[in-house]
Amino acid sequence: MASDSIAYLDNAASTPLCVEAAEAMAPLHRELYANPTGAHRMARDTRRKIDDARDVMAEALGSEPGEIVFTGGGTEGDNMAVVGRHMQAGGVTVCSAIEHHAVLEPVEHLGGRVVAVDAAGVIDLEALAAALDDDVTVVSVMLANNETGMVQPLAQVAEAVRSAAPQAVLHTDAVQAFPWLDVASLAACADLISVSAHKFGGPKGVGALVVRDGVELSPLLLGGGQERGLRSGTHNAAGIAGMAAAAEVVLKSRAEQVERLARLRDRLADGILAAVPSTVETGQRSGKVAGSAHLCFEGIESEALLFLLEDAGVYASAASSCSSGAQDPSHVLAAMGYDRMLAGGSLRLSLGYETADADVDQALAVIPDAVARLRAYGTG
Ligand code: PLP
Repeated sequence: MASDSIAYLDNAASTPLCVEAAEAMAPLHRELYANPTGAHRMARDTRRKIDDARDVMAEALGSEPGEIVFTGGGTEGDNMAVVGRHMQAGGVTVCSAIEHHAVLEPVEHLGGRVVAVDAAGVIDLEALAAALDDDVTVVSVMLANNETGMVQPLAQVAEAVRSAAPQAVLHTDAVQAFPWLDVASLAACADLISVSAHKFGGPKGVGALVVRDGVELSPLLLGGGQERGLRSGTHNAAGIAGMAAAAEVVLKSRAEQVERLARLRDRLADGILAAVPSTVETGQRSGKVAGSAHLCFEGIESEALLFLLEDAGVYASAASSCSSGAQDPSHVLAAMGYDRMLAGGSLRLSLGYETADADVDQALAVIPDAVARLRAYGTG
């Protein structure tokens, strides 16, 4: 029988809306519902909410308010950075092999260069240097990976870009990094930074892209010319206000949450490693964001494991969350050199600000047994 209590360990896929975001959004649905580009008082009041949110996001991301472009989420920000830059400047696009599909697919579609990573899932800086030349116009390297949680050496990436391709702009996808890392300082070296609200307690379908002053992009959406002409379309004022409220929570509580959740994550990962033989932890724990545990179990298939876990109230995922539910082999694990068999038994457990001790207890009570059952049945 399915379990009544839920241990939600899929925060890298999406997070619950925090109370502060819900409260910030409510008045924008029923009271300040005007189009913020209008001329009347309600429009001006709505516009003020967007301006306030812009100030918050600028502080959170280490930019000037005028450098923030509100987007429809991480995918849009990533596409705007890579495709928008390519439409503007032509040339060659470059990214790492472990980027989210929202970066990888545009780069591949545009015939760009994909840079290898090492066995721990960290970009190979020598391979990056070899991919850089006068033709490169945009380089995109994420701050933290969505499957392994591994943090990338962005400052060294920036150094390589500035010296070998100074004409190129550097984009970083900070979607998974923002709840855990001080993006304002770590991404200070980047020209373009994308984040997505639903990964940090904000609503879905809204995000921000920092476009530093002087960086030229072509818009993907043409129309009313909102957001400095870079992102036409009526502002999602409620979503933007919700995102800013969630970002304020992150800024206030990040240090404390990182400490608390790193401890919980360690208890979870160590508990599984101790209880389940033939388990490989991907990457290196010390190089990961605090909320991320990512393991591969020999001899089982993730899909079957996720099914048993769901039945026992533990919600997790195998790799990234964006495909249709079907378990495609992970391009991240393939780039790290994992064979299909081992990669096929991967499990991502991602903690969030609302994760409690009880969630980890429940996962630890369920996962070793579920893996043992699958191995006994030979569901590999
Ligand atoms: N980039 C990374 C690293 C992600 O993890 C995700 C979402 O899974 C995205 C981009 C896409 O963000 P969104 O869901 O807001 O389009």
